[in-house]
Amino acid sequence: MAKVERIGILTSGGDAPGMNAAIRAVVRCASVAGIECYGIDDGYTGLIEGEVHKIDSRFVSDIIQKGGTILRTSRCPQFLEYEYRQKGYEVLQAYGIDGLVVIGGGGSLAGMNEFSKDFGIPCVGIPGTIDNDLAYTDFTLGFDTAVNTVLSAINNVRDTMTAHNRACIIEVMGRHCGDIALYSGISGGAEIILVPEIPFNVKDLAKTIKLDRIKGKKSVIIILAEGVCSCSELKEQLLAEIEEISIRTVKLGYIQRGGTPTMCDRMLAARCGARAVELFIKGNIGGRAVGIKNNKIIDVDIDEALNTESCFDKELYEIGKILGK
Ligand code: ADP
Repeated sequence: MAKVERIGILTSGGDAPGMNAAIRAVVRCASVAGIECYGIDDGYTGLIEGEVHKIDSRFVSDIIQKGGTILRTSRCPQFLEYEYRQKGYEVLQAYGIDGLVVIGGGGSLAGMNEFSKDFGIPCVGIPGTIDNDLAYTDFTLGFDTAVNTVLSAINNVRDTMTAHNRACIIEVMGRHCGDIALYSGISGGAEIILVPEIPFNVKDLAKTIKLDRIKGKKSVIIILAEGVCSCSELKEQLLAEIEEISIRTVKLGYIQRGGTPTMCDRMLAARCGARAVELFIKGNIGGRAVGIKNNKIIDVDIDEALNTESCFDKELYEIGKILGK
């Protein structure tokens, strides 16, 4: 298997803190291995439209600490069609690019899988999404930073809720995955954590809140994953059950997407980037996804990565319930 000589790098789908650190890691490791790097702007849109430029170790200076992605990103419905993927392949051929790194979430890695299978080009996916919804890896780039952003918000909200004896519903991101809510809820000391993976009953929830008052709690923080319902919907349902408690809502929204990546996300980016380049040195590896399992960097076939069934950590959820009492 001949070593890959020129790789293209793109970021796709929702941006996540740590994407820049991953771009940097790939470029610097590739440079040492004698592999040339090309940045592809705007995700798959830029691939199709030929937004390709050579990048080197200096291009990635001073980006490790930046959120977002210097290569920008996009959602590109055309990439679902073979005809457009072929255009993208022709662009790579024109630049002599014989390997592709895709940094993105589940959708982006699914696109990479199609592309790799269509044209037999070696591709490596690096999981970049704050949602932590890729089951083949314990963590995705951006998740730790997003959870820390939520934590800082919980701390601030707690101060004012305690001062006024109030309850607050804090709605967090994660799409269909409850991990941001679960991890931020436990580490932020939330009384209640609501995730899409575990159904809840509003009457029981209201009872818990009333009981918290009787137990002497001065404030109640409810961390609500967006995949359950909106914070205003939950507030309405709760007010139908409890009138005596004043409830506020905070929807954190996009502040969870931005910001400087944490140590954990930078380390994950460094290690995933290094493994991606190791794979290209091996040569024609097909489509693979890198990730982390039990603190070891792994790489798996992209089909296996995409077909790994998600498994919500119920044990952790139960710990959260106990700690919120
Ligand atoms: P994320 O990567 O954050 O999950 P999306 O689900 O929006 O974000 O996917 C990002 C992009 O990946 C899509 O806009 C599309 O260009 C591409 N993509 C997603 N699924 C597929 C697929 N099945 N085939 C080809 N391309 C896909």
